[in-house]
Amino acid sequence: MAPKPPSQFKIMAGKKGIRIIATMECTNCKERNYMTEKSKRNDPARIELKKYCKRCRSHQMHRETK
Ligand SMILES: [Zn+2]
Repeated sequence: MAPKPPSQFKIMAGKKGIRIIATMECTNCKERNYMTEKSKRNDPARIELKKYCKRCRSHQMHRETK
């Protein structure tokens, strides 16, 4: 029996902080078009991005949903 290798599986400690998945919703038609990852530390508040909305067929402001 070969000796067990040293533990390679260290827990990925969060140097970058907590990262969560945010759903982006069109502020115009409320369609949920995008999913994005954000850092809770860098963006504690809700984020807003201008993205193309298929339903509006134009660029609209997208806001993070709860
Ligand atoms: Zn829209």
